[in-house]
Amino acid sequence: MTQPNKKTIGDIEITAVSDGLLTMTSDRVIGMTGAEVARRMGRTDDKMVLEVNSFLLKRDGGYDLVDAGCGNTAGPTLGKQADNLRGLGVDPTTIRRVFLTHFHPDHSNGLIDGAGQAVYPNAEVFAHADEAKFWIDDDLPAGATEMMINGKRNTLRAMAAYPDRLTRVRDGEVLPGVAAILQSGHTPGHTGWLFQSRGEGILIWGDIVHLAAIQVAEPDAAMTFDYDPANARAARRRTFDRVAADKLFVAGAHLDFPGFGTITRNGSGYRYETA
Ligand SMILES: [Zn+2]
Repeated sequence: MTQPNKKTIGDIEITAVSDGLLTMTSDRVIGMTGAEVARRMGRTDDKMVLEVNSFLLKRDGGYDLVDAGCGNTAGPTLGKQADNLRGLGVDPTTIRRVFLTHFHPDHSNGLIDGAGQAVYPNAEVFAHADEAKFWIDDDLPAGATEMMINGKRNTLRAMAAYPDRLTRVRDGEVLPGVAAILQSGHTPGHTGWLFQSRGEGILIWGDIVHLAAIQVAEPDAAMTFDYDPANARAARRRTFDRVAADKLFVAGAHLDFPGFGTITRNGSGYRYETA
């Protein structure tokens, strides 16, 4: 049986929304050959294919989103989020808030359409203050990669369509039942969004895991595109420990669609199960 794409947490109804599939060469895990990554992911070529998921939340009588997909910046296999929302009967103009996990292209570029117009024209965008400072306010550090340079340009372009509608948050409760959890490492202000209702909780953790088949068993397997691999490793372990101890559900942008699961302790390591 396929896993349902909806999950209920107390009074919150969460629906996974696919933006599409992201294909990259598999040589993206630090210290692991591309061939080994492909083998571990069950592939016979030199590719790795990641789901790109965002999450629609129905709560307090309205709709919010976590993340916005790629928009038109990543080719024809991606950028399907807004159409998939419409397919669910949700008009993008009714979205009240977009909680961003970070400003990477597969999470934020879909805030705008090909003409640079806001896809969610009535939404307030929420991001961690550290993430906004890095991508919006500051100059990129010396030696910035092409990915970072493109990322900054696309972030500025997307946020120009949301003038005065970016709320910069710190760790902790942002709204009743909604908390930001800083998971710095993958990006400087990479953030998980914790939603709680009636004693249940789910952490929508963004990119804590790109490759579940590798990084759950080996949390120290960092990605070449992590901004700070050491902090990314530490954030992954800290997050696994917390969701296991607090019995939180998790939802991941790159876990196999729909991306809902749990992390439990498994000896000295961890186990991921869909849930
Ligand atoms: Zn991502």
